[in-house]
Amino acid sequence: MRKGTLAVISGFSGVGKGTVVKELVKRYPYALSVSATTRDPRPGEADGISYHFITKEAFEERIREGDFFEWASYVDQYYGTPKSFVLEELEKGHDVILEIEAAGAMKVKSQLPEALLIYMLPPSMRELKRRLVGRGTETEEKIEKRLKKAKEEELEIAREYDFLIVNNDLETCISELHRIIQTRTGVSPGRSDLLTRLETEVLENGV
Ligand code: 5GP
Repeated sequence: MRKGTLAVISGFSGVGKGTVVKELVKRYPYALSVSATTRDPRPGEADGISYHFITKEAFEERIREGDFFEWASYVDQYYGTPKSFVLEELEKGHDVILEIEAAGAMKVKSQLPEALLIYMLPPSMRELKRRLVGRGTETEEKIEKRLKKAKEEELEIAREYDFLIVNNDLETCISELHRIIQTRTGVSPGRSDLLTRLETEVLENGV
């Protein structure tokens, strides 16, 4: 029997989930899974800490060997969660955090129905764009690609998650996330005014 909770956090690119998750695991004893990816490191990202940066060939070899709990392709790169880390930590009774995109989250849910899926929303689509541009790590083309994906797919898929959380204020978001994981209660997509507001914003203005 698994003892820990597997919490999956997803959200729009640029919503700030990386920062929230980093702070969460600093403050509370969560085990954070480090994914493997084929994308290039961004400035400040260290191998083995932010990600395990590996080649496409190495990634495909690990898929064949069944090393991933889940994996997905996202804007032309592979991302995957190492299976052994997740299973061992859960077995030890630790709560494990995965920060992954939606296709991977759905695979996790189908393998482990008791996993807790949490989707992080921006306060508005306009704010999301401001944060993505402000991060300054992506080219204009990559930002447009990520925003397009957010518009087209992510608002819809957020409805498949167990709970929603809004990243308006960092401190509030961290404690709310911790509370959701520990109590397994929160705002479900069907009861969220914010989700409906974001959908209206996209329909009326684009992003
Ligand atoms: P980024 O390139 O911005 O670090 O990540 C792009 C997207 O890939 C984000 O939505 C991030 O949550 C997701 N991601 C990171 N690691 C994994 C993983 O192991 N599996 C899946 N499915 N998605 C991941």
